Amino acid sequence: MTTSPLTIPASRDYALHRARVPAIFLADGAPPDADRDGDGCVLVDMSIADGRVTRIAAADSTPPEGALDLGGRQVWPTLVDMHTHLDKGHTVARTPNPDGSFVSARDATMADRIGFWDEADLRRRMTFGLACAEAHGVGAIRTHLDSNDDGPHRDQAATSWGVFRELRDAWAGRIALQAVGLVPIDVYATDHARRLADIVATSGGLIGGVTRASGGLHGEPMENIDGLLDRLFALAAERDLDIDLHVDETGDPAAAALDAVARATLRHGYEGRVTCGHCCSLAVQPPAQAAATIALVAAAGISIVTLPTVNMYLQDRGAGRTPRWRGVAPVHELIAAGIAVAVAGDNCRDAFYAYGDHDMLDTLRQAIRILHFDHPLDLAPGLAGPVPAAAMRLKDTGTIRVGGPADLIILGCKTLNQMVTRHHADRIVIKRGKPLGATPPSYAQLDASIAS
Ligand SMILES: [Zn+2]
Repeated sequence: MTTSPLTIPASRDYALHRARVPAIFLADGAPPDADRDGDGCVLVDMSIADGRVTRIAAADSTPPEGALDLGGRQVWPTLVDMHTHLDKGHTVARTPNPDGSFVSARDATMADRIGFWDEADLRRRMTFGLACAEAHGVGAIRTHLDSNDDGPHRDQAATSWGVFRELRDAWAGRIALQAVGLVPIDVYATDHARRLADIVATSGGLIGGVTRASGGLHGEPMENIDGLLDRLFALAAERDLDIDLHVDETGDPAAAALDAVARATLRHGYEGRVTCGHCCSLAVQPPAQAAATIALVAAAGISIVTLPTVNMYLQDRGAGRTPRWRGVAPVHELIAAGIAVAVAGDNCRDAFYAYGDHDMLDTLRQAIRILHFDHPLDLAPGLAGPVPAAAMRLKDTGTIRVGGPADLIILGCKTLNQMVTRHHADRIVIKRGKPLGATPPSYAQLDASIAS
């Protein structure tokens, strides 16, 4: 794949020669005269000064004075993981999922939350997750935060959001952090909904939820879903909050909350401000029903996040039985309708997903294969860069542009085929022009109760 190890100049000002960049990452378009391969990657020279990209041009036939010759290696921006659960992460050893099912994941998570989630526990595990992500070249994360506040969960929302605000400030300039208040949708019929909305508003977060009842499953009847969504949207509108929901995370075609969310978005004039994650059942509904919902989602300007690694783990699982479907939303059909679709990592080493390392490059490589998002590969990098960056309204992550920060990932490979094929332990993450030099933290850094 590559020929020689790279040494990034210690200087704040340098140039990269023969960088191969997927054109979809270039926010201001590719230089028209740049050499372009069959997967939409262009060969460019890039200048960096004082931590910023100052020039992007078609690769010259000779290297600029003193430039580092990348020999056609892939150069990417730092990536965006717009749907995670940092508060649940790395609990798999102390609270395992006994059978890998969604029901067991829901129940194990509640037990872990009640038993362990104080400030110190959240801070330790969330910091570990952020350190993993940073080392892999993730520059922005949106995390959902379990924000129940009833019975045994008393004060969980205040505790978790307090730790989030502390970590967001501590990690500013390293990973841009957003958070979403996550509660079962029936919580919007309770007094806690207003308290949660106020916590979210004072924390600069998003309001959200999961479109199933407390202790229930996606697909079970919810006659008052429209009224609950109206309450959620009203609380959001009063505080000018964006919305991010977990929707229809099941292979049960009876789960059709996405349609209700799209109608609520239109009813409240909230077009362009709503994200829906999962949407698995859309793939197994009758084609005419799915097409009608997709048209509504497009009209409502809803962004969709697909979580292929976790959906493939949880969906169509049964003891002693081999899964028959991949569990993912109909991504091709959504994109064909003009809907913005991002890929994200979701859970890491918890009851909902036993694996994961906050590595968006790895998530994207798996997603491309799970979703058949290839032949050609030119649009694939967009799912982890410009699409989620736009949905999260980020300017400095997920794209490369003149004037933007030199936050880059230099891969050891030259083509997108090689990117998908091999893992990338040899990647070089550049932050503000300088090599980060970080490696994922050792599991020994976790508390003894959650270390393995
Ligand atoms: Zn999730």
